[in-house]
Amino acid sequence: FNVPDPTNEPVKNYAPGSPERASLQAAINDARSKVVDIPMFIGSEEVRTGNKKELSPPHDHQHLLGYFHEGDSSHVEQAINAALGAKAAWENMQWEQRAAIFLKAADLLAGPYRDKINAATMLGQSKNVYQAEIDSACELIDFLRFNVKFMAEIYAQQPPIHGAGIWNRTEQRPLEGFVMAITPFNFTAIAGNLPSAPAMMGNTVIWKPAHTQIYAANVIMEVFRKAGLPDGIINLIYVDGPTAGDVVFSHPDFAGLHFTGSTGVFQTLWKTIGANISRYKTYPRIVGETGGKDFVIAHKSADAKELATALARGAFEYQGQKCSAASRAYIPSNLWEEVKGFLLADIDSMKMGGPEDFSNFINAVIDEKAFDKITGYIDEAKNDSNVEIVAGGNYDKSTGYFIAPTVIHVQDPMYKTMVEEIFGPVLTLYVYHAEHYEEALELVDQTSPYGLTGAVFSRDRYAIELATTKLRHAAGNFYINDKPTGAVVGQQPFGGARASGTNDKAGSMINLLRWVSPRTIKETF
Ligand code: GLU
Repeated sequence: FNVPDPTNEPVKNYAPGSPERASLQAAINDARSKVVDIPMFIGSEEVRTGNKKELSPPHDHQHLLGYFHEGDSSHVEQAINAALGAKAAWENMQWEQRAAIFLKAADLLAGPYRDKINAATMLGQSKNVYQAEIDSACELIDFLRFNVKFMAEIYAQQPPIHGAGIWNRTEQRPLEGFVMAITPFNFTAIAGNLPSAPAMMGNTVIWKPAHTQIYAANVIMEVFRKAGLPDGIINLIYVDGPTAGDVVFSHPDFAGLHFTGSTGVFQTLWKTIGANISRYKTYPRIVGETGGKDFVIAHKSADAKELATALARGAFEYQGQKCSAASRAYIPSNLWEEVKGFLLADIDSMKMGGPEDFSNFINAVIDEKAFDKITGYIDEAKNDSNVEIVAGGNYDKSTGYFIAPTVIHVQDPMYKTMVEEIFGPVLTLYVYHAEHYEEALELVDQTSPYGLTGAVFSRDRYAIELATTKLRHAAGNFYINDKPTGAVVGQQPFGGARASGTNDKAGSMINLLRWVSPRTIKETF
């Protein structure tokens, strides 16, 4: 294919004393010294409504990062009109021209914008330096470069059989209408991927990020524009969900939804789309990655230290605010004491505070609503005599939304925190009788409605085989002897089924194929 062969962007380690650390620290200081005024981007306009909302780091209430200008339904209409107006020229462009824009965006993120996007993610979303680097720099760069390769492969696919006097062709048309991208706070890479993947395939997009993600979304938009993205292709709006939804989902040209967020919101949107189905020119594509209640199950043959490290990392990286986070674990009784010792030692070594201090592993959770929800579960567990808080349980929102990494040991494998998605630094453990592995696998499969990620730890190949077979639908990303987080573009295409989404694997050809509607042409000579 005539596109650069992608490789994963190398992760920088920002070691103490390194020039890369000094440069990122300078970008953080620079961002902290400014109060930015963030407009919406609609067509060729930077729109400032005057309805300004404050943005502060989740870990530092006293600090003001800037303001964004909130819009209303008229801005949603303007964004749709801008997207529809820009469509014809964009979809008629040779795909190589579109590819060049996104390849350039990747290069900008890898080079001159790396510190800026990492600093924005660290401050705006309270993410530590390593998590920011793998998310907002490397994964976003990878999404852009690998998607360009998949795009080239898609355009090259043609029917292999023709026949005498017959020439068959497939034309990959963009969808007819506009695409809506709704993006979450937890990954800057996802925020960049959701609008760019449909745009790459010739669609024009309305992009609505979570309010708690706007600070970094503004930088992504700056990069896309700097890379030469024409006006109206991606229209970035800050409008509350129901207001935007009313306009978008009743519009006859609504052609696709690219969503990452909660299961509840996704189901509501799907119902709304269903209720409006006869209004649309075309059946819309609905692509969503939603919740998870991701598991780790260990067999009695597992290595206790490896398991404990995976639990600590999988559960508490980014304060457990990953759809993929390890949030329920099934530990065989023979390993429990040893695993507990290693796990508590790991947790003890995790410093908590703002990400400006690179030695802090745990930062704040995203906002007050999340803080209250997570601490509600912790309080309930504290008051339940059948439940033991093995680690953490403390929290404090006076300076920022800090919650200590918390481990809950339950006697009842169907206890609330074993079943419900918490989206915070809370790991619930159930210790099963070491000889009852098969029953434990049944529990894993039946406890939660989700099917996103999961892991098995074992040295016994038969036990691995059993888990792989029995848990076939319990996870779209299944890990053997590794934590269930940290999928890498091009290596582990990401997504799950059941209540976790449509499983259209982010960063894969499967996803890009959702943004085209093929036309088959048969020509007879
Ligand atoms: N892709 C991420 C991972 O593998 C999770 C994405 C999400 O939280 O939505 O950890």
